[in-house]
Amino acid sequence: MRNDIEEVLISEEEIQQKILELGAKLSDDYKGRNPLVICVLKGAFVFMADLVKRIDVPLEIDFMAVSSYGASTKSSGVVKIIKDLDVSVEGRDVLIVEDIIDSGLTLSYLMEVLRGRSASSVRVVTLFDKPAGRTVDLEADYTGFVIPDAFIVGYGLDYAEKYRNLPYIGILKPAIYSN
Ligand code: 5GP
Ligand code: MG
Ligand code: MG
Repeated sequence: MRNDIEEVLISEEEIQQKILELGAKLSDDYKGRNPLVICVLKGAFVFMADLVKRIDVPLEIDFMAVSSYGASTKSSGVVKIIKDLDVSVEGRDVLIVEDIIDSGLTLSYLMEVLRGRSASSVRVVTLFDKPAGRTVDLEADYTGFVIPDAFIVGYGLDYAEKYRNLPYIGILKPAIYSN
């Protein structure tokens, strides 16, 4: 797999250090509360697993799956719930865990849905942010890395369902897309 990577953009060590910092901040901000931490599948699953280990408050977790780009690298603009939550968010402090915010379409849709279900608060933590891709006005409450407008893979993020198991963030060689 390393052969398919043109450049390692963010190393495993840098990611883990950032997650320590995010975890410390979230532990402070959610002190005395019992947040429901929601992983947006599939991309956020690796980040979710590492992040919750660094949040030192009692919390619960749940998972939601929404439609993604498929094998393409650009957003279709169509967001659909493929797997819904198992528990109610009513009256809960919800923390959405995202892998990356690009256009912002996925997240704005999710926030609308969760607020409509009467969560008492909805915040977002994203590991990566690509502000250049934004088509809706939306910011995460907590952001790991702001990155340039390139398509990244690894650490949960895929290209055509591959590369999610890379422990770092890389940029693919152009030849991979034309296969
Ligand atoms: P948005 O709706 O903000 O445009 O995109 C959100 C989703 O698109 C992310 O959760 C992720 O699944 C996918 N995505 C956006 N940018 C990238 C990228 O650079 N690499 C990968 N692998 N997926 C991306
Ligand atoms: Mg995502
Ligand atoms: Mg994807």
